[in-house]
Amino acid sequence: MSIAYDYFHNTPRDAVVLRKQLLIDGRHIESVSGRTFKTLNPATEEVIAVISEGNEADVERAVVAARRAFLGVWGNMRPAERGHILLRLAELMKQHSAELAELESRDAGKPISAVLRQDLPAAIDTLTYYAGWADKIHGDTVPTRSDALTYTVREPVGVVAVIVPWNFPLMIGMWKLAPALACGCTVVMKPAELTSLSALRIGELALEAGLPPGVLNIVPGPGRVVGDALVNHPGVDKVTFTGSPGVGRGILRGAAGNFKRVSLELGGKSANVIFDDADLDAATKAAAAGIFFNAGQVCSAGSRVLAHENVYGEVVERLAARAKALRMGDTADKTTALGPVISEKQMTSILDYVDIGQREGASLVTGGERVGDRGYYISPAVFANVKHEMRISQEEIFGPVVSVIKFKDEADALRIANGTAFSLAAGVWSRDMGRVQRFAKKAKAGTVWINTYGYTDVRLPWGGAGDSGFGREHGTEALANFTEPKAVWMNLNV
Ligand code: NAD
Repeated sequence: MSIAYDYFHNTPRDAVVLRKQLLIDGRHIESVSGRTFKTLNPATEEVIAVISEGNEADVERAVVAARRAFLGVWGNMRPAERGHILLRLAELMKQHSAELAELESRDAGKPISAVLRQDLPAAIDTLTYYAGWADKIHGDTVPTRSDALTYTVREPVGVVAVIVPWNFPLMIGMWKLAPALACGCTVVMKPAELTSLSALRIGELALEAGLPPGVLNIVPGPGRVVGDALVNHPGVDKVTFTGSPGVGRGILRGAAGNFKRVSLELGGKSANVIFDDADLDAATKAAAAGIFFNAGQVCSAGSRVLAHENVYGEVVERLAARAKALRMGDTADKTTALGPVISEKQMTSILDYVDIGQREGASLVTGGERVGDRGYYISPAVFANVKHEMRISQEEIFGPVVSVIKFKDEADALRIANGTAFSLAAGVWSRDMGRVQRFAKKAKAGTVWINTYGYTDVRLPWGGAGDSGFGREHGTEALANFTEPKAVWMNLNV
Protein backbone atom coordinates (compact mmCIF):
# COMPACT_ATOMS: atom_id res chain seq x y z
CA MET A 1 0.00 0.00 0.00
CA SER A 2 1.28 3.43 -0.82
CA ILE A 3 0.83 6.30 1.58
CA ALA A 4 0.19 9.84 0.44
CA TYR A 5 2.42 12.36 2.15
CA ASP A 6 1.83 16.01 2.72
CA TYR A 7 5.23 16.87 4.02
CA PHE A 8 4.64 19.53 6.61
CA HIS A 9 3.10 21.99 4.16
CA ASN A 10 0.95 24.65 5.81
CA THR A 11 1.21 22.94 9.17
CA PRO A 12 2.85 24.14 12.38
CA ARG A 13 6.30 22.66 12.94
CA ASP A 14 6.27 19.06 14.12
CA ALA A 15 2.47 18.95 14.07
CA VAL A 16 2.50 16.16 11.49
CA VAL A 17 3.83 12.75 12.44
CA LEU A 18 4.76 10.88 9.29
CA ARG A 19 4.12 7.18 8.94
CA LYS A 20 6.74 5.54 6.77
CA GLN A 21 7.13 1.98 5.56
CA LEU A 22 9.93 -0.04 4.04
CA LEU A 23 10.47 0.38 0.31
CA ILE A 24 11.06 -3.02 -1.28
CA ASP A 25 10.61 -4.00 -4.92
CA GLY A 26 8.97 -0.70 -5.74
CA ARG A 27 6.33 -0.99 -3.03
CA HIS A 28 5.79 0.53 0.39
CA ILE A 29 5.33 -2.37 2.76
CA GLU A 30 5.14 -3.09 6.45
CA SER A 31 8.03 -4.93 8.03
CA VAL A 32 7.60 -8.69 8.45
CA SER A 33 7.61 -8.28 12.24
CA GLY A 34 5.08 -5.43 12.13
CA ARG A 35 7.33 -3.48 14.49
CA THR A 36 7.92 0.25 14.18
CA PHE A 37 10.31 2.80 15.63
CA LYS A 38 10.12 6.54 16.17
CA THR A 39 12.36 9.28 14.93
CA LEU A 40 12.74 12.64 16.67
CA ASN A 41 13.58 16.15 15.66
CA PRO A 42 16.83 16.71 17.64
CA ALA A 43 16.02 20.43 17.88
CA THR A 44 12.69 19.90 19.64
CA GLU A 45 12.79 16.27 20.86
CA GLU A 46 9.37 15.81 19.28
CA VAL A 47 8.46 12.66 17.36
CA ILE A 48 8.31 13.48 13.65
CA ALA A 49 7.85 10.02 12.17
CA VAL A 50 6.93 6.43 12.94
CA ILE A 51 8.83 4.06 10.68
CA SER A 52 8.46 0.36 9.97
CA GLU A 53 11.43 -1.44 11.50
CA GLY A 54 13.16 -3.94 9.26
CA ASN A 55 14.75 -7.21 10.33
CA GLU A 56 16.53 -10.21 8.72
CA ALA A 57 13.38 -11.33 6.90
CA ASP A 58 12.95 -7.89 5.33
CA VAL A 59 16.59 -7.88 4.28
CA GLU A 60 15.97 -11.24 2.63
CA ARG A 61 13.04 -9.82 0.66
CA ALA A 62 15.07 -6.76 -0.35
CA VAL A 63 18.10 -8.76 -1.48
CA VAL A 64 15.92 -11.10 -3.57
CA ALA A 65 14.27 -8.09 -5.23
CA ALA A 66 17.63 -6.42 -5.85
CA ARG A 67 19.07 -9.61 -7.39
CA ARG A 68 16.05 -10.01 -9.65
CA ALA A 69 16.35 -6.42 -10.88
CA PHE A 70 20.10 -6.81 -11.35
CA LEU A 71 19.73 -9.92 -13.50
CA GLY A 72 16.68 -8.50 -15.27
CA VAL A 73 15.46 -5.03 -16.02
CA TRP A 74 18.39 -2.94 -14.72
CA GLY A 75 21.11 -5.25 -15.99
CA ASN A 76 19.54 -5.34 -19.45
CA MET A 77 18.79 -1.65 -19.75
CA ARG A 78 20.89 0.49 -22.09
CA PRO A 79 23.42 2.38 -19.95
CA ALA A 80 22.33 5.69 -21.52
CA GLU A 81 18.76 5.00 -20.38
CA ARG A 82 20.02 4.33 -16.85
CA GLY A 83 21.73 7.73 -17.00
CA HIS A 84 18.51 9.42 -18.16
CA ILE A 85 16.58 7.97 -15.22
CA LEU A 86 19.22 9.25 -12.79
CA LEU A 87 19.05 12.70 -14.41
CA ARG A 88 15.26 12.68 -14.03
CA LEU A 89 15.74 11.88 -10.34
CA ALA A 90 18.16 14.82 -10.03
CA GLU A 91 15.53 17.02 -11.67
CA LEU A 92 12.84 15.81 -9.26
CA MET A 93 15.17 16.47 -6.33
CA LYS A 94 15.55 20.06 -7.53
CA GLN A 95 11.78 20.42 -7.85
CA HIS A 96 11.35 19.02 -4.32
CA SER A 97 14.24 21.00 -2.82
CA ALA A 98 12.17 22.83 -0.22
CA GLU A 99 10.50 19.63 0.96
CA LEU A 100 13.72 17.60 1.04
CA ALA A 101 15.55 20.35 2.90
CA GLU A 102 12.78 20.60 5.47
CA LEU A 103 12.76 16.85 5.94
CA GLU A 104 16.54 16.61 6.37
CA SER A 105 16.66 19.63 8.64
CA ARG A 106 14.05 18.16 10.99
CA ASP A 107 15.29 14.62 10.93
CA ALA A 108 18.99 15.39 11.42
CA GLY A 109 18.67 18.63 13.40
CA LYS A 110 20.50 20.65 10.76
CA PRO A 111 20.03 24.38 10.23
CA ILE A 112 17.85 24.68 7.13
CA SER A 113 20.30 27.17 5.60
CA ALA A 114 23.09 24.57 5.77
CA VAL A 115 20.97 21.91 4.08
CA LEU A 116 20.00 24.32 1.30
CA ARG A 117 23.56 25.53 0.84
CA GLN A 118 25.48 22.28 1.29
CA ASP A 119 23.75 18.92 1.73
CA LEU A 120 21.11 19.16 -0.96
CA PRO A 121 23.14 20.84 -3.76
CA ALA A 122 25.99 18.38 -3.10
CA ALA A 123 23.61 15.41 -3.33
CA ILE A 124 22.13 16.69 -6.59
CA ASP A 125 25.57 17.46 -8.02
CA THR A 126 26.74 13.95 -7.14
CA LEU A 127 23.75 12.36 -8.84
CA THR A 128 24.12 14.52 -11.96
CA TYR A 129 27.84 13.78 -12.15
CA TYR A 130 27.36 9.98 -12.00
CA ALA A 131 24.32 10.07 -14.32
CA GLY A 132 26.76 11.40 -16.90
CA TRP A 133 29.08 8.46 -16.28
CA ALA A 134 26.42 5.76 -16.86
CA ASP A 135 27.20 5.34 -20.59
CA LYS A 136 30.93 6.07 -20.36
CA ILE A 137 32.14 3.15 -18.29
CA HIS A 138 34.11 0.98 -20.67
CA GLY A 139 37.09 -1.31 -20.94
CA ASP A 140 40.06 -1.27 -23.32
CA THR A 141 41.47 -3.33 -26.13
CA VAL A 142 44.89 -4.44 -24.95
CA PRO A 143 47.46 -5.74 -27.46
CA THR A 144 48.91 -9.07 -26.29
CA ARG A 145 49.46 -11.52 -29.22
CA SER A 146 49.15 -11.20 -32.98
CA ASP A 147 46.78 -14.18 -33.12
CA ALA A 148 44.37 -12.91 -30.49
CA LEU A 149 41.95 -10.11 -29.78
CA THR A 150 42.22 -9.25 -26.11
CA TYR A 151 40.08 -6.70 -24.39
CA THR A 152 38.54 -5.79 -21.06
CA VAL A 153 34.98 -4.97 -20.07
CA ARG A 154 33.83 -3.43 -16.78
CA GLU A 155 30.86 -5.23 -15.28
CA PRO A 156 28.75 -4.07 -12.33
CA VAL A 157 29.62 -5.93 -9.11
CA GLY A 158 25.98 -6.87 -8.44
CA VAL A 159 23.88 -6.22 -5.36
CA VAL A 160 25.30 -3.48 -3.14
CA ALA A 161 24.52 -2.85 0.52
CA VAL A 162 24.67 0.89 1.20
CA ILE A 163 25.00 1.65 4.93
CA VAL A 164 24.76 5.32 5.81
CA PRO A 165 25.43 7.39 8.97
CA TRP A 166 23.21 10.12 10.42
CA ASN A 167 25.46 13.14 10.01
CA PHE A 168 24.85 13.69 6.26
CA PRO A 169 22.09 11.20 5.44
CA LEU A 170 21.13 12.66 2.07
CA MET A 171 24.57 13.65 0.84
CA ILE A 172 26.56 10.61 1.96
CA GLY A 173 23.70 8.35 0.88
CA MET A 174 23.96 9.83 -2.61
CA TRP A 175 27.77 9.52 -2.62
CA LYS A 176 27.17 5.77 -2.58
CA LEU A 177 23.87 5.38 -4.35
CA ALA A 178 24.65 7.43 -7.46
CA PRO A 179 27.84 5.63 -8.56
CA ALA A 180 26.38 2.21 -7.67
CA LEU A 181 23.33 2.80 -9.87
CA ALA A 182 25.32 4.45 -12.66
CA CYS A 183 27.56 1.39 -12.82
CA GLY A 184 24.50 -0.88 -13.21
CA CYS A 185 24.40 -2.29 -9.68
CA THR A 186 21.21 -2.62 -7.65
CA VAL A 187 21.02 -1.46 -4.05
CA VAL A 188 19.67 -2.30 -0.64
CA MET A 189 20.08 0.81 1.44
CA LYS A 190 20.06 0.97 5.22
CA PRO A 191 19.82 4.51 6.53
CA ALA A 192 20.97 5.28 10.07
CA GLU A 193 18.06 4.61 12.42
CA LEU A 194 18.11 8.24 13.61
CA THR A 195 17.71 9.62 10.07
CA SER A 196 15.77 7.41 7.65
CA LEU A 197 13.41 10.00 6.18
CA SER A 198 15.36 11.59 3.32
CA ALA A 199 16.45 8.16 2.03
CA LEU A 200 12.85 6.94 1.98
CA ARG A 201 11.73 10.07 0.14
CA ILE A 202 14.54 9.70 -2.42
CA GLY A 203 13.35 6.12 -2.94
CA GLU A 204 9.87 7.41 -3.77
CA LEU A 205 11.19 10.09 -6.11
CA ALA A 206 13.37 7.48 -7.82
CA LEU A 207 10.28 5.43 -8.63
CA GLU A 208 8.63 8.57 -9.99
CA ALA A 209 11.73 9.16 -12.13
CA GLY A 210 11.29 5.71 -13.67
CA LEU A 211 13.71 3.61 -11.65
CA PRO A 212 12.38 0.07 -12.04
CA PRO A 213 11.13 -1.79 -8.94
CA GLY A 214 13.83 -3.65 -7.06
CA VAL A 215 16.72 -1.44 -8.23
CA LEU A 216 16.68 0.62 -5.02
CA ASN A 217 15.31 -1.00 -1.88
CA ILE A 218 15.33 0.79 1.46
CA VAL A 219 15.21 -1.07 4.75
CA PRO A 220 15.34 1.16 7.83
CA GLY A 221 16.06 -0.42 11.19
CA PRO A 222 18.76 -1.02 13.76
CA GLY A 223 22.33 -1.41 12.55
CA ARG A 224 22.99 -4.55 14.51
CA VAL A 225 19.92 -6.19 12.91
CA VAL A 226 19.43 -4.81 9.39
CA GLY A 227 23.05 -3.78 8.84
CA ASP A 228 24.37 -7.03 10.21
CA ALA A 229 21.96 -9.11 8.08
CA LEU A 230 23.09 -7.26 4.96
CA VAL A 231 26.76 -7.62 5.76
CA ASN A 232 26.38 -11.35 6.34
CA HIS A 233 24.02 -12.05 3.44
CA PRO A 234 25.55 -14.29 0.75
CA GLY A 235 23.42 -12.53 -1.89
CA VAL A 236 25.15 -9.18 -1.30
CA ASP A 237 28.27 -8.61 -3.41
CA LYS A 238 29.55 -5.39 -1.93
CA VAL A 239 29.17 -3.28 1.18
CA THR A 240 29.84 0.43 1.11
CA PHE A 241 29.82 1.86 4.60
CA THR A 242 30.31 5.19 6.30
CA GLY A 243 30.31 5.22 10.07
CA SER A 244 32.40 4.46 13.09
CA PRO A 245 35.64 2.42 13.15
CA GLY A 246 34.11 -0.10 15.59
CA VAL A 247 31.24 -0.98 13.27
CA GLY A 248 33.64 -0.91 10.31
CA ARG A 249 35.74 -3.66 11.93
CA GLY A 250 32.65 -5.84 12.41
CA ILE A 251 31.68 -5.28 8.77
CA LEU A 252 35.06 -6.53 7.59
CA ARG A 253 34.61 -9.70 9.64
CA GLY A 254 31.05 -10.28 8.41
CA ALA A 255 31.99 -9.63 4.78
CA ALA A 256 34.60 -12.38 4.92
CA GLY A 257 31.84 -15.02 4.63
CA ASN A 258 31.46 -14.67 0.86
CA PHE A 259 34.47 -12.37 0.33
CA LYS A 260 32.33 -9.32 -0.32
CA ARG A 261 34.02 -6.23 -1.58
CA VAL A 262 34.08 -3.59 1.14
CA SER A 263 34.79 0.10 1.23
CA LEU A 264 34.88 1.89 4.56
CA GLU A 265 34.76 5.60 5.28
CA LEU A 266 35.32 5.91 9.01
CA GLY A 267 36.21 8.63 11.47
CA GLY A 268 38.88 11.28 11.76
CA LYS A 269 40.78 13.58 14.12
CA SER A 270 41.98 16.02 11.53
CA ALA A 271 44.61 18.66 12.21
CA ASN A 272 44.28 22.22 10.95
CA VAL A 273 47.79 23.67 11.21
CA ILE A 274 48.29 27.44 11.49
CA PHE A 275 51.82 28.81 11.06
CA ASP A 276 52.81 32.24 12.33
CA ASP A 277 52.97 33.75 8.83
CA ALA A 278 49.37 32.74 8.02
CA ASP A 279 46.50 35.12 7.38
CA LEU A 280 45.16 34.68 10.91
CA ASP A 281 41.77 36.15 10.20
CA ALA A 282 41.11 33.77 7.29
CA ALA A 283 42.70 30.82 9.11
CA THR A 284 40.70 31.18 12.32
CA LYS A 285 37.48 31.87 10.43
CA ALA A 286 37.95 28.63 8.45
CA ALA A 287 39.15 26.75 11.53
CA ALA A 288 35.96 27.70 13.40
CA ALA A 289 33.80 26.66 10.46
CA GLY A 290 35.93 23.52 10.12
CA ILE A 291 34.99 22.31 13.59
CA PHE A 292 31.60 23.90 14.30
CA PHE A 293 29.88 23.19 10.96
CA ASN A 294 27.14 20.55 11.48
CA ALA A 295 27.82 20.88 15.23
CA GLY A 296 31.18 19.16 14.74
CA GLN A 297 29.52 15.97 13.52
CA VAL A 298 31.72 15.73 10.46
CA CYS A 299 34.26 12.98 9.83
CA SER A 300 36.76 15.51 8.49
CA ALA A 301 36.09 18.13 11.19
CA GLY A 302 39.25 20.07 12.05
CA SER A 303 38.93 18.96 15.66
CA ARG A 304 42.60 19.70 16.39
CA VAL A 305 43.83 23.20 15.62
CA LEU A 306 47.63 23.27 15.78
CA ALA A 307 48.91 26.83 16.27
CA HIS A 308 52.52 28.04 16.14
CA GLU A 309 53.74 29.22 19.56
CA ASN A 310 54.13 32.83 18.30
CA VAL A 311 50.43 33.09 17.45
CA TYR A 312 48.99 30.51 19.85
CA GLY A 313 47.30 33.01 22.21
CA GLU A 314 45.82 34.98 19.34
CA VAL A 315 44.47 31.83 17.63
CA VAL A 316 42.80 30.70 20.88
CA GLU A 317 41.29 34.14 21.40
CA ARG A 318 39.98 34.44 17.85
CA LEU A 319 38.52 30.92 17.89
CA ALA A 320 36.79 31.58 21.19
CA ALA A 321 35.36 34.86 19.86
CA ARG A 322 34.04 33.09 16.78
CA ALA A 323 32.56 30.28 18.89
CA LYS A 324 30.72 32.78 21.09
CA ALA A 325 29.41 34.68 18.06
CA LEU A 326 27.87 31.62 16.38
CA ARG A 327 24.11 31.92 16.17
CA MET A 328 22.57 28.85 17.75
CA GLY A 329 18.86 28.20 17.67
CA ASP A 330 15.79 27.16 15.74
CA THR A 331 16.93 25.04 12.79
CA ALA A 332 14.05 26.41 10.66
CA ASP A 333 15.37 29.97 11.04
CA LYS A 334 17.56 30.78 8.05
CA THR A 335 19.94 32.83 10.19
CA THR A 336 20.77 29.91 12.51
CA ALA A 337 24.33 28.69 12.03
CA LEU A 338 24.55 26.04 14.73
CA GLY A 339 21.94 23.37 15.41
CA PRO A 340 21.71 20.65 18.04
CA VAL A 341 23.68 17.42 18.01
CA ILE A 342 21.83 14.36 16.79
CA SER A 343 20.66 12.64 19.99
CA GLU A 344 20.70 12.59 23.76
CA LYS A 345 23.28 9.80 23.63
CA GLN A 346 25.57 11.86 21.40
CA MET A 347 25.08 14.91 23.63
CA THR A 348 26.02 12.93 26.74
CA SER A 349 29.08 11.49 25.04
CA ILE A 350 30.27 14.97 23.95
CA LEU A 351 29.67 16.46 27.42
CA ASP A 352 31.64 13.52 28.90
CA TYR A 353 34.57 14.46 26.67
CA VAL A 354 34.35 18.04 27.93
CA ASP A 355 34.74 16.66 31.48
CA ILE A 356 37.56 14.37 30.40
CA GLY A 357 39.43 17.31 28.82
CA GLN A 358 39.18 19.34 32.01
CA ARG A 359 40.27 16.41 34.16
CA GLU A 360 43.25 15.86 31.85
CA GLY A 361 44.34 19.44 32.56
CA ALA A 362 43.27 21.26 29.39
CA SER A 363 41.71 24.73 29.83
CA LEU A 364 38.12 25.13 28.70
CA VAL A 365 38.09 28.67 27.30
CA THR A 366 34.45 28.76 26.27
CA GLY A 367 31.36 26.59 25.72
CA GLY A 368 30.97 22.89 26.36
CA GLU A 369 27.60 23.12 28.13
CA ARG A 370 24.12 22.01 27.31
CA VAL A 371 22.02 25.00 26.22
CA GLY A 372 18.33 24.97 27.21
CA ASP A 373 16.41 21.88 28.21
CA ARG A 374 14.66 21.13 24.94
CA GLY A 375 16.72 19.94 22.00
CA TYR A 376 20.25 18.60 22.17
CA TYR A 377 22.11 21.90 21.96
CA ILE A 378 25.71 22.26 23.14
CA SER A 379 27.57 25.57 23.18
CA PRO A 380 30.65 25.38 20.93
CA ALA A 381 33.70 24.57 23.03
CA VAL A 382 37.32 25.68 22.72
CA PHE A 383 40.00 23.89 24.72
CA ALA A 384 43.43 25.54 25.12
CA ASN A 385 46.62 24.08 26.60
CA VAL A 386 45.84 20.72 25.08
CA LYS A 387 48.68 18.20 25.04
CA HIS A 388 49.00 15.90 22.07
CA GLU A 389 48.69 12.78 24.24
CA MET A 390 45.39 13.77 25.87
CA ARG A 391 42.28 11.82 25.00
CA ILE A 392 40.54 14.94 23.65
CA SER A 393 43.42 15.21 21.20
CA GLN A 394 43.45 11.55 20.17
CA GLU A 395 39.82 10.39 20.18
CA GLU A 396 37.04 11.44 17.86
CA ILE A 397 34.50 13.47 19.85
CA PHE A 398 32.14 14.11 16.93
CA GLY A 399 30.76 17.28 18.43
CA PRO A 400 31.44 21.05 18.56
CA VAL A 401 34.66 20.76 20.58
CA VAL A 402 38.04 21.96 19.33
CA SER A 403 41.43 21.24 20.92
CA VAL A 404 44.05 23.93 20.31
CA ILE A 405 47.59 22.55 20.51
CA LYS A 406 50.86 24.54 20.47
CA PHE A 407 53.76 23.64 18.17
CA LYS A 408 57.23 25.13 17.77
CA ASP A 409 58.36 24.34 14.21
CA GLU A 410 57.48 22.52 11.00
CA ALA A 411 58.75 19.12 12.19
CA ASP A 412 56.83 19.44 15.44
CA ALA A 413 53.63 20.36 13.56
CA LEU A 414 53.95 17.37 11.28
CA ARG A 415 54.67 14.98 14.16
CA ILE A 416 51.57 16.13 16.04
CA ALA A 417 49.36 16.28 12.93
CA ASN A 418 50.30 12.73 11.95
CA GLY A 419 50.21 11.39 15.50
CA THR A 420 46.76 9.78 15.69
CA ALA A 421 45.31 6.48 14.49
CA PHE A 422 43.26 8.35 11.87
CA SER A 423 44.28 9.54 8.45
CA LEU A 424 41.45 11.33 6.71
CA ALA A 425 42.14 15.04 6.20
CA ALA A 426 44.47 17.87 7.21
CA GLY A 427 44.71 21.62 6.69
CA VAL A 428 47.72 23.93 6.62
CA TRP A 429 47.90 27.72 6.70
CA SER A 430 51.02 29.66 5.72
CA ARG A 431 52.19 32.15 3.10
CA ASP A 432 55.37 30.08 2.55
CA MET A 433 54.57 27.91 -0.46
CA GLY A 434 57.54 25.61 0.10
CA ARG A 435 56.39 24.93 3.64
CA VAL A 436 52.77 24.15 2.71
CA GLN A 437 53.93 21.84 -0.06
CA ARG A 438 56.32 19.99 2.29
CA PHE A 439 53.42 19.60 4.70
CA ALA A 440 51.02 18.40 1.98
CA LYS A 441 53.57 15.80 0.88
CA LYS A 442 54.14 14.35 4.35
CA ALA A 443 50.67 14.70 5.89
CA LYS A 444 48.97 11.39 6.68
CA ALA A 445 45.66 12.24 5.03
CA GLY A 446 43.45 11.43 2.04
CA THR A 447 42.78 15.16 1.54
CA VAL A 448 45.00 18.14 2.34
CA TRP A 449 43.61 21.68 2.29
CA ILE A 450 46.08 24.54 1.82
CA ASN A 451 44.97 27.96 3.05
CA THR A 452 41.40 26.72 3.09
CA TYR A 453 39.50 23.99 4.93
CA GLY A 454 36.62 21.60 4.49
CA TYR A 455 35.81 21.61 0.78
CA THR A 456 34.78 18.38 -0.93
CA ASP A 457 33.74 17.86 -4.52
CA VAL A 458 32.42 14.73 -6.17
CA ARG A 459 35.10 15.06 -8.85
CA LEU A 460 37.93 14.60 -6.33
CA PRO A 461 38.62 11.34 -4.46
CA TRP A 462 37.49 11.21 -0.84
CA GLY A 463 38.56 8.77 1.86
CA GLY A 464 41.33 7.84 4.23
CA ALA A 465 43.56 5.19 5.70
CA GLY A 466 44.19 3.63 9.11
CA ASP A 467 41.24 4.08 11.48
CA SER A 468 39.68 6.31 8.82
CA GLY A 469 39.03 3.22 6.68
CA PHE A 470 40.04 2.42 3.13
CA GLY A 471 38.84 2.86 -0.43
CA ARG A 472 37.88 6.13 -2.04
CA GLU A 473 34.52 7.60 -2.90
CA HIS A 474 33.90 10.20 -5.62
CA GLY A 475 35.34 10.66 -9.08
CA THR A 476 36.45 7.73 -11.17
CA GLU A 477 37.63 5.92 -8.02
CA ALA A 478 34.01 5.23 -7.10
CA LEU A 479 33.38 3.67 -10.51
CA ALA A 480 36.11 1.15 -9.72
CA ASN A 481 34.36 0.37 -6.41
CA PHE A 482 31.20 -0.76 -8.17
CA THR A 483 32.61 -2.53 -11.22
CA GLU A 484 34.63 -5.67 -11.80
CA PRO A 485 37.02 -5.81 -14.76
CA LYS A 486 36.80 -8.86 -17.02
CA ALA A 487 39.54 -9.85 -19.49
CA VAL A 488 38.43 -11.53 -22.72
CA TRP A 489 40.75 -13.55 -25.02
CA MET A 490 39.62 -14.41 -28.52
CA ASN A 491 41.63 -16.67 -30.78
CA LEU A 492 41.74 -15.12 -34.27
CA ASN A 493 42.87 -18.33 -35.97
CA VAL A 494 39.72 -20.44 -35.87
P1 NAD B 1 27.77 4.00 13.28
O1 NAD B 1 28.97 3.26 12.86
O2 NAD B 1 27.19 3.72 14.61
O3 NAD B 1 26.57 3.79 12.24
C1 NAD B 1 26.74 3.94 10.85
C2 NAD B 1 25.72 3.07 10.16
O4 NAD B 1 26.04 1.71 10.44
C3 NAD B 1 24.29 3.27 10.66
O5 NAD B 1 23.40 3.12 9.57
C4 NAD B 1 24.12 2.13 11.63
O6 NAD B 1 22.78 1.75 11.80
C5 NAD B 1 24.91 1.04 10.94
N1 NAD B 1 25.34 -0.05 11.82
C6 NAD B 1 25.47 -0.03 13.18
N2 NAD B 1 25.83 -1.25 13.62
C7 NAD B 1 25.97 -2.04 12.52
C8 NAD B 1 26.35 -3.40 12.34
N3 NAD B 1 26.64 -4.20 13.36
N4 NAD B 1 26.41 -3.89 11.09
C9 NAD B 1 26.13 -3.09 10.03
N5 NAD B 1 25.73 -1.81 10.15
C10 NAD B 1 25.67 -1.28 11.39
O7 NAD B 1 28.18 5.50 13.10
P2 NAD B 1 27.22 6.74 13.24
O8 NAD B 1 27.00 6.92 14.70
O9 NAD B 1 26.03 6.59 12.36
O10 NAD B 1 28.14 7.91 12.61
C11 NAD B 1 29.20 8.48 13.33
C12 NAD B 1 30.54 7.91 12.89
O11 NAD B 1 30.64 7.85 11.47
C13 NAD B 1 31.70 8.75 13.34
O12 NAD B 1 32.69 7.94 13.88
C14 NAD B 1 32.19 9.44 12.06
O13 NAD B 1 33.52 9.83 12.03
C15 NAD B 1 31.88 8.44 11.02
N6 NAD B 1 31.68 9.10 9.73
C16 NAD B 1 32.66 9.02 8.77
C17 NAD B 1 32.52 9.67 7.54
C18 NAD B 1 33.56 9.56 6.45
O14 NAD B 1 33.32 10.01 5.33
N7 NAD B 1 34.72 8.99 6.70
C19 NAD B 1 31.36 10.39 7.30
C20 NAD B 1 30.39 10.46 8.29
C21 NAD B 1 30.57 9.80 9.50
